[in-house]
Amino acid sequence: MTESSARRPRPAHAGRVPASARAAGALLAALSAPCPAPARGQEIDTLAIRAHTYFLTHDLLAGRGTGTAGEALAATYIVSELRRMGIPGAGPGGSYLQPVPLKEARIDDDGTAVVLVEDVRERAFRSGEHFVWNTGGRSALRDFAGQALFAGTAALAQGALAGRASLDGQVLVVLGTLGEHAAELVPDWIRRGAEGLVLLVPDPRDFALHARSRGPARLFVDAPVDDPVWQSDLPTLIAGPALAAALLAGTTIPPDALDGRRPFAALPLGRALRATIRAEVRDVAAANVAALVPGRDPARRPEVVAYTAHYDHLGTSTPDERGDSIYNGFSDNAAGVAMLLAIADALRRDPPARSALFLFFTGEERGLLGSSYYVSAPLVPLERTVAVINLDAGAPPAPPRRWRVAGGTLSTLGELAARTAARFGWTAEPSGARPNSDYWPFLRRGVPAAFLIPGQEWDGVSREERERLRQRWDRYHQPDDEWAADFPWAGLERYARLALELGRVVAEAPDRPRMLEPPPGTR
Ligand SMILES: [Zn+2]
Repeated sequence: MTESSARRPRPAHAGRVPASARAAGALLAALSAPCPAPARGQEIDTLAIRAHTYFLTHDLLAGRGTGTAGEALAATYIVSELRRMGIPGAGPGGSYLQPVPLKEARIDDDGTAVVLVEDVRERAFRSGEHFVWNTGGRSALRDFAGQALFAGTAALAQGALAGRASLDGQVLVVLGTLGEHAAELVPDWIRRGAEGLVLLVPDPRDFALHARSRGPARLFVDAPVDDPVWQSDLPTLIAGPALAAALLAGTTIPPDALDGRRPFAALPLGRALRATIRAEVRDVAAANVAALVPGRDPARRPEVVAYTAHYDHLGTSTPDERGDSIYNGFSDNAAGVAMLLAIADALRRDPPARSALFLFFTGEERGLLGSSYYVSAPLVPLERTVAVINLDAGAPPAPPRRWRVAGGTLSTLGELAARTAARFGWTAEPSGARPNSDYWPFLRRGVPAAFLIPGQEWDGVSREERERLRQRWDRYHQPDDEWAADFPWAGLERYARLALELGRVVAEAPDRPRMLEPPPGTR
């Protein structure tokens, strides 16, 4: 699958010297520079980062929930800042907003039901109480029916189903959720004709958590997008304890069949399942924000290095013990947006050879909706998008020494990030990819993409101090992930600096980063 990247056209100016030798030369020159840190001194404006995050996390924006007025205000702020800096929009005619066709389906529990049919007996189960309809793509919110076929856990399901060329007429029943296995499993199961999927979550507390986190509404992209993890086209239910027990009743599952020690063949459960859904569907107004700093070199200007950060957050939801129901999302991801603006400001003052594209996505928290749509309707063709650098949910309260480069093992971008960090005396370790932020849809399309994640070792911070800082600032997905006047900005300055320098390296290098592995889910 790496062929798709190998087939891409080379930059027109590529000369006689082998590209790899030139890249190595440039890299050596950079590595042997006398000063470990780049000469450009105060490029990242931390006062600006402080101001951007102050506005974006204000209670008036009510947590920037996807499709809300607060999110639209955040988009307006970002556009306003880009205009102030004189950076044009990347859309048609220089527009900044890319409308994303989102819809919200509000599930009517009274009209949504599951019926189990065994011989002539029928037993009905209630939506919200016995099962919840899972999040999915626009074709996943439809009725389905078929014979229940137990396929074990997600990790073993492919082996269990190996003997069946066709899954026509079958409703697959899996113990637990699919996680990132969905990227491989779902497209294959759809191809083989599966009617639907039931995920068994027999633990009452786990099931309650699934039900609560989904709530009554499902957001989906109303356009053909390819994301089997978040926008699956296979209708999927999450079954709680009562429905799980009824599905498996009378079936003996070999106790060690589910841990992979013995081969396990899928078991027909001897009953049929019929699921019907009723939902009220409405349009949701949402948009990605996009801007472009044109490259210095006319020959390479058509190619872009893309910086990405989502600007939505969770909006308002369950209040915490202080009664605060606004999820302000300072670290996740006002900080990422602010860093992108600061990087854009630095690059427009001193543009690199290739162009720099800045993408602020909507709907990340609701399943990478803005970025999934973007890769299906890119403003700059993906063939000309040489790399993606994603920043999300990690405002370090002190300057990190170590980084993780998620997705970095899939392309040469990981090694470039490691070498860039080394120039500063830091380390950056490439790792695999997960569908947990906006870099994932790009990797799925074969675009080298990395999510820079700050580590938990910080400069000038003792172990005790580190614990104190973590307790004070680690507020992932809680209402008190919010702006504070005493937040130390040196960590974000360093985070933004690494991203800025990595982007510069990629934007100046003669060769583009290339994929080393097939896109996730396509093996
Ligand atoms: Zn988040």
